[in-house]
Amino acid sequence: MQKHEMKNLPTSVPTEIRCNCCGKVIPLQNGIAMQDFFHAEKTWGYFSQKDGITHSFDLCETCYDRIVSAFAIAPSENE
Ligand SMILES: [Zn+2]
Repeated sequence: MQKHEMKNLPTSVPTEIRCNCCGKVIPLQNGIAMQDFFHAEKTWGYFSQKDGITHSFDLCETCYDRIVSAFAIAPSENE
C-alpha cells in the first residue's frame, strides 16, 4: 500500500509504503525506499469476476518469503 504526494507534475513521490500483509512501514528517504519490497499490480480482464478492476499491493521481504514458500512451484530466479 503506497501513499503518494504530487510534488512536481506529472510525477509523484511516495510518502508512505506499508506492507499490506503485516502493516510494517517500509522506510523512505526522499521518497526512495531504504528496504526493498515486492510490489504487484493487476488489472483484471473480461474473463474474470473483477473485469476492469485494478488491484495493487506491497509486501515486505519477510512476508514475501513466507508467502512464496507456500507455493507448489517456487518463483523462477534469474541473476
Ligand atoms: Zn510484511
